[in-house]
Amino acid sequence: MEKLDLTQMPDENGFFGEFGGQFVPDHLKKIMNDINDAYEKIIKDENFQKELASLYKHYVGRPSPIYHAKKLSEAAGGAQIYLKREDLNHTGSHKINHCLGEALLAKYMGKTKVIAETGAGSHGAALAAACALVGIPCEIHMGAIDIEREAPNVTRMHIFGAKVVSVTRGTQTLKDAVDSAFEELLRDPDNFFYAIGSVVGPHPFPKMVRDFQTMIGKEAREQMIELTGRLPDYAVACVGGGSNAMGLFNAFLLDDEVKLIGVEPGGKGLDTEFHAATMNKGRKGMIHGFKCYVLQDERGEVLPVYSVAAGLDYPGVGPQHCLLRDLNRVQYESCTDREAIDMFMNLSRMEGIIPAIESAHAVAYAVKLASTLPKDKNIVVTLSGRGDKDIDAIIKELNLKF
Ligand SMILES: *Cc1c(COP(=O)(O)O)cnc(C)c1O
Repeated sequence: MEKLDLTQMPDENGFFGEFGGQFVPDHLKKIMNDINDAYEKIIKDENFQKELASLYKHYVGRPSPIYHAKKLSEAAGGAQIYLKREDLNHTGSHKINHCLGEALLAKYMGKTKVIAETGAGSHGAALAAACALVGIPCEIHMGAIDIEREAPNVTRMHIFGAKVVSVTRGTQTLKDAVDSAFEELLRDPDNFFYAIGSVVGPHPFPKMVRDFQTMIGKEAREQMIELTGRLPDYAVACVGGGSNAMGLFNAFLLDDEVKLIGVEPGGKGLDTEFHAATMNKGRKGMIHGFKCYVLQDERGEVLPVYSVAAGLDYPGVGPQHCLLRDLNRVQYESCTDREAIDMFMNLSRMEGIIPAIESAHAVAYAVKLASTLPKDKNIVVTLSGRGDKDIDAIIKELNLKF
């Protein structure tokens, strides 16, 4: 069999192998194809490229640094850990990378409102900022529980001038927020733009969001070569929908010597019902207009998911990840709430960096991995966001009194 070119994906119908696609009603298919056409056109436009590149540099603060976490590596007692600092981006996470692209595209297409879901509120806050900048109304759908968990981000959305819709159905978390945002889109799909917050949803979003995130891996690749003289031995990232991970992995897909590891939210443990480890525990299915691994019961009903990290508790996962898993190009591991919370404090106390609780999953796994490897191995980890949004929830969880 001819070797699949992993860099030439998806196909023109939005499939990554059997995953992805566009499983939506016909009129929505047309809307999605219009978005794809507009995207393919605009992405080749020199003025658009210049505008976006300038915003990444002067507004977001790219390239983001890479940081050799020496104390953390020493404590792990093995391989060297390098953090790709997406937490230093304007608005505090990797989400701004695709939000700027999506907001500009919506404006270019003459849309009148940008809608989105948000879990941790990072996508909502980043999109609200991007929409304020671009000058387009913004409406964020968020589960009522997440609104409580991530209060600072909700306040930021309001300050940026966005409308925040509290979603009180179902588990009142990310999946329900996506359902609610989709319904709002269906009210006027010609004029509204649904800016999906990860590499999920119907084609072209998995491709588009990935493309807007690929600088993470491109920069990290160059930075690792500059710092260490070679490619890293491992690249590690947390996986909710999978955008920060896809952004990192994309640059290394053809480098077989670089092992790629996605870290899923293990919640209270994979042997309980309280996790969102889609790759480890899901089966092939359909969710939100695309095919992927889905956490579902025997009848195909999507299961409620759980994680301490509001940005990770999604019952589906990006279609490209599903293919990479089946090809054994990426290995999917998990990390429990407990391990992530401990790492939230450890990284803060050891390196003076407060990680997003989502990112703490990746760092915690990387430390475990590092402890099994010799000192001359290098691991690069995306620190996908900063943890300021999580401090109240963690203090409460740990019952900390200062
Ligand atoms: C949204 C979010 C994630 C999870 O999203 P992916 O699409 O899986 O990257 C991870 N970390 C942070 C900080 C987030 O805001």
